[in-house]
Amino acid sequence: MKVQCKNCLPKEGIEIPDFSLAEKEHYRKVKEESPIRAVKILIDEKNVSHRDAKYIVTHINIEYGQCNRCSFNELNEEYGKCPKCGALNFNWIKF
Ligand SMILES: [Zn+2]
Ligand SMILES: [Zn+2]
Repeated sequence: MKVQCKNCLPKEGIEIPDFSLAEKEHYRKVKEESPIRAVKILIDEKNVSHRDAKYIVTHINIEYGQCNRCSFNELNEEYGKCPKCGALNFNWIKF
């Protein structure tokens, strides 16, 4: 699917691969420990470019509902924009 964030380049957004539930949990955990490692394994495991991997990792929420850019913490869409700051959030499921 295609995702887009007004704060990030490329402006037109990027195409992201499908993520299984297990992958969502996995990448979120790895990001929590090390965003750099999350970028590396996304490149290896999902075959995405370095640019796209960085884009994806930047937008993953560590904490469900919590915007990755501001203090807003009531996000409820899976790939929604924050109503406060407008940032794209990969607000993957609450585990
Ligand atoms: Zn962004
Ligand atoms: Zn926000």
